Amino acid sequence: MALNKVGYVPTMGALHSGHLDLIRQSMAATPATVISIFVNPSQFAPNEDLSKYPRTFEKDIAKITEVSNSARPEVEPVVFMPEVSEMYPSGIELDRSKQVGTFVEVLGLSHQLEGSVRPHFFRGVATVVAKLLNAVQPDIAFFGQKDIQQVSVVRRMVKDLLVPVDIVVGKTIRESSGLAMSSRNEYLDPDTRAKAAVLYRALMSADELFKSGVTDSSALIKQVETILLAEPVVKEVEYIAITDLETLTPIDTTHRGAVLSAAVALNSSSGKRLRILDNLIF
Ligand code: AMP
Repeated sequence: MALNKVGYVPTMGALHSGHLDLIRQSMAATPATVISIFVNPSQFAPNEDLSKYPRTFEKDIAKITEVSNSARPEVEPVVFMPEVSEMYPSGIELDRSKQVGTFVEVLGLSHQLEGSVRPHFFRGVATVVAKLLNAVQPDIAFFGQKDIQQVSVVRRMVKDLLVPVDIVVGKTIRESSGLAMSSRNEYLDPDTRAKAAVLYRALMSADELFKSGVTDSSALIKQVETILLAEPVVKEVEYIAITDLETLTPIDTTHRGAVLSAAVALNSSSGKRLRILDNLIF
């Protein structure tokens, strides 16, 4: 264990086993762990689900207490739940043209993949993570591979802004179907949720193909697309890409360590646009 170090797990709450795994890792690595719960307005576009995003603070605290009691019964976890006005002293409008104050943009890593569907997203993420790291001043911050582009953006932001923190990445925790856990999975009805595991199956099938010797990225991407389009729950394939982990540049010939990422919109009984994303590292 790293003595005198502070570990930090930033979250937006609605905690699930993916978050709890990161908390456990931090508790195992450092004597003091801070967990933040903050639903960050600046990463939501005006038409997105900021007001609907699940807020389950009491349950979250109970889950943190349970993990902490089993991992480190002698230590009280610190839960940081700032107000929007504390994190955004200049105020925060979702409409970007009305925003004032300081924002952090990680150019070159924010426009592709998730950024192609949610152009505002990584500016909001980089901004809030910079603010949270300043507020908490941890030695080690823990992020999930589930949001792999976020990891690339945060690593670059920390490097470029000379933020003195180590970034550790935890593996993706999955539901028994294989679907990557996400707070937004609560939006899916049970049938859609079960069928949504097709995304993981499609990615794994490309991994199998790669292991059998296929390295042509377009063939691997085609395989993912074919499996996704054969499942009626998939309304639209938003993107499938094979990229370098650090630069997110597309790779023509896949090699070990390259990242396969994909996102799809799902058909669901609610009629709302529901999307899921996932990735694997070959
Ligand atoms: P969020 O609350 O969605 O902002 O996520 C907080 C942290 O938990 C981020 O670093 C996410 O990448 C991570 N995370 C979310 N889902 C998972 C998962 N299924 N497995 C591992 N980490 C996750």
